[in-house]
Amino acid sequence: MLDDGLSPMAGGTDLLVPGRKAAGRGVALLEGLPGLDGVAMTAQGLRLGALASLAALERHPVIRERLPVLAQAIACLGSPLIRNMGTMGGNLVTASPAGDTLPALLVLEAVVELASRDGRRHLPVAEFLLGPGRTALGPGEIVAAVRIALPPPGASQHFEKVGRRDALAIAVASLAALIVRDEAGRVVEARLAVGSLAPTARRCPSAEAALPGRRLDREALLEAGRRIRDEISPKGDLRATAAYRREMAGRLPLRLLTLA
Ligand SMILES: Cc1cc2nc3c(=O)[nH]c(=O)nc-3n(C[C@H](O)[C@H](O)[C@H](O)COP(=O)(O)OP(=O)(O)OC[C@H]3O[C@@H](n4cnc5c(N)ncnc54)[C@H](O)[C@@H]3O)c2cc1C
Repeated sequence: MLDDGLSPMAGGTDLLVPGRKAAGRGVALLEGLPGLDGVAMTAQGLRLGALASLAALERHPVIRERLPVLAQAIACLGSPLIRNMGTMGGNLVTASPAGDTLPALLVLEAVVELASRDGRRHLPVAEFLLGPGRTALGPGEIVAAVRIALPPPGASQHFEKVGRRDALAIAVASLAALIVRDEAGRVVEARLAVGSLAPTARRCPSAEAALPGRRLDREALLEAGRRIRDEISPKGDLRATAAYRREMAGRLPLRLLTLA
């Protein structure tokens, strides 16, 4: 689909920042290519076009109602200007450990639809993200869409971001959660993913395993937090030390008390 050596450009909010990958390379505008925009309901769930703006996704009624963890993550990404120009495809391919949509996409078990001259293939988002700034995108391939099966209507969802200020902040740590409970309030399934605490956003399977059969009380959430601390590998940078990130990571699940 793309000539080698060209950088695909969606909103340009990352690509055009001086010093980024596009420096010295040609740019291929994706705008106008068919099948990359809009949100469509399919038999398997929602298909979010890679070029749909973050602002359009945040406003979408089905996303707000059925994928609130994604709407909440987008609401705290950058600023209104960034959300108007920036896209989901761009956030995925940037593959920042702090990318705000990524923990949400992980708990929603989103699948990335990749397109090239040779056809299409699909990869779970966890397999698409390989490391900081590294993805499974092959030569000449672009992200066409993200596919998400709708979670059960009663599933509780939450996104929490810790930054150095309330707006226009890159995450120091973040947590996305999707929790299914039975009628008695006991957890049936827990999906937890963190951002800015490892080389990529990642699920925390040991912390997830701490919750089924229990209520979302302080004790259970602190246990999940202890396990998250064991699963992450935070680094220090100009925003926070590794020790602060580890401390914060253990406390993030307490925010889920609001769901209880
Ligand atoms: C001031 C500022 C604040 C920001 N704040 C945040 C923040 O709080 N949280 C956050 O997560 N991010 C933040 N960002 C980063 C950026 O805005 C987001 O990652 C955004 O989603 C990028 O989308 P885009 O469409 O602008 O991508 P682009 O800049 O167009 O592209 C980004 C990368 O993805 C590639 N690409 C884009 N679309 C595709 C596609 N469909 N297929 C293949 N490759 C593709 C490009 O080649 C490039 O490598 C911020 C950026 C700025 C400038």
